[in-house]
Amino acid sequence: MAAILGGGLGGLSTGYYLLKNNITNNSNLKLFLVEATDYCGGWIKSIKTRDYIFEQGPRTIRPRGITGLNTLNMLQDLGLSEHISYIKPDHPAARNRMIYVNNTLYSLPSSLKGVFQKNEPFSKPLIYAALNDLKQPQKELKDDSIYNFVERRFGKEVADYAISPMICGICAGDAKEISVKFLMKTLFEYEQSYGGVVKGVMKSMFKPKNEETLELGELAKRAQEEKWNIYTIKGGLDTFPLVMKQYLKDNDVDIHLNTKVEEIEFIDSSMVQLKKSNGETISASHVYSSVPSHILAKLISKQHPQLSQLLSETPFVTVGIVNLYFATEKPLIEPAFGFLVPPIENSPILGVVFDSCCIPDQNGTVLTVMLGGRWFNEKFGSDVTKDRLLEIAVKEIKSILKIEDKVTAYNVGILDKCIPQYIIGHYDRVDRIRDYIQNKNLPISLVGSSYDGVGINDVIYSAKTQVEKDVTK
Ligand SMILES: Cc1cc2nc3c(=O)[nH]c(=O)nc-3n(C[C@H](O)[C@H](O)[C@H](O)COP(=O)(O)OP(=O)(O)OC[C@H]3O[C@@H](n4cnc5c(N)ncnc54)[C@H](O)[C@@H]3O)c2cc1C
Repeated sequence: MAAILGGGLGGLSTGYYLLKNNITNNSNLKLFLVEATDYCGGWIKSIKTRDYIFEQGPRTIRPRGITGLNTLNMLQDLGLSEHISYIKPDHPAARNRMIYVNNTLYSLPSSLKGVFQKNEPFSKPLIYAALNDLKQPQKELKDDSIYNFVERRFGKEVADYAISPMICGICAGDAKEISVKFLMKTLFEYEQSYGGVVKGVMKSMFKPKNEETLELGELAKRAQEEKWNIYTIKGGLDTFPLVMKQYLKDNDVDIHLNTKVEEIEFIDSSMVQLKKSNGETISASHVYSSVPSHILAKLISKQHPQLSQLLSETPFVTVGIVNLYFATEKPLIEPAFGFLVPPIENSPILGVVFDSCCIPDQNGTVLTVMLGGRWFNEKFGSDVTKDRLLEIAVKEIKSILKIEDKVTAYNVGILDKCIPQYIIGHYDRVDRIRDYIQNKNLPISLVGSSYDGVGINDVIYSAKTQVEKDVTK
């Protein structure tokens, strides 16, 4: 029997790929999944009504790159192709992404032409950033913060107004702490190997590419041909985990909801015991852990304190989410994806997504305000109420977007420790964690957002890679 710990997207995808690799048929292995709550999907949660959808966690998925195309293959296989709602490059949600600086909303350049023009709040056309890179000397480093790297290569304005808000949007984190390898591994390698990013781009043009390949299904091919920018699932993103859970059930995976694991004990290289909160024990030959690393650290701490220490070193941030619905005939916002607020603005909010522009079938204006993240405790304290977050979000919306209408409906969530932070040294630490597991021959594999990427695509791809590695062992 193989156990999957956690029923978020990481755990569900692991089950999906174990089935796809015929693990149950070839090895006669029974699969079971244990989930602490009464729901499978983890942070993916949608509130659906006739007039609006509130996404409490993730809302859109990127179709690009090998990880993005792989998710589309999975969606097609699960029969969800017809449920996808995508945004093409000429849609305002693709073209108009804004930042809020000095009490003003500015659109970021979205085309090559824009790079040659001066766009406020930048004091010069962004092409100057490339010239800056050519002038700067190389700095030899093993890792660096993404902020330092971008400031060194492209200048302070790019670091403050482009990269810092982007990091807030992706992981609610501080670009001054997040590893450059999180988003710019290749560019950092160019600097380290060739002395600069532009030099690296030029030299790499003449080198044979050694990229991973993937066989594409119809849906992925279509997304590539039509250059989809982002997509979501009609009727709410939670359809994705719901359908995946059903797929696992239909293929005889035992799903145990409301089953919290409190301790993991490794007996030998092919036997592990999961101790449940009700005192019962489940025995398995292997466990796939998809729970956040800070939780896994506690589960294995008695037997493996050193591994526990390494796992607990990845910090997590708390995010406040305020979904707002205004039942108005005319949209209250200009068509755009939304805006982000650079941390130097010292605002209580991280940004706002204009859901009614990117998610279909909404009758009115729907917005989601994100608050806190890396700065949650210093801005709001640890015992802030949902009412207080709502008050702050509405005040900011009024002031920034000049919305005077009364909110028709809302939802507030405080998502405790919901996003891992890939700070400087993260990738090295994950290698050490996996080396420890391998050296001690522990029957455990690590999946989920704590290790190989924080987005939906990364989590699914990480499950695929891990399972394929294990079945070929
Ligand atoms: C606010 C927010 C917005 C986001 N927006 C986007 C977006 O727009 N696009 C995108 O691509 N990504 C986005 N993400 C990231 C995406 O949601 C995650 O990558 C993904 O949901 C992580 O899935 P996971 O399975 O690794 O973890 P989780 O979703 O955390 O699942 C872990 C599961 O383990 C269970 N569990 C925990 N402890 C135990 C235990 N002891 N015993 C049994 N079960 C346990 C939990 O209940 C949970 O169900 C967002 C994340 C957040 C928080």
